[in-house]
Amino acid sequence: MLWDKPKCIVCDKEIKADEMVYVKMRYPKRKGFTEIKAFLRNEAKFICEECFNKK
Ligand SMILES: [Zn+2]
Repeated sequence: MLWDKPKCIVCDKEIKADEMVYVKMRYPKRKGFTEIKAFLRNEAKFICEECFNKK
């Protein structure tokens, strides 16, 4: 797992392994894949498929 117990920001449900999720994040200013992982850990917010489809 990349993240420790990620949660949906809408319903606060824990994201399960293999679950389809949507990620909300700011696009990084700097390029480079090694930085992306650290960036996601700090900046990414998840929305589960269920909540995403409700909108
Ligand atoms: Zn949700």
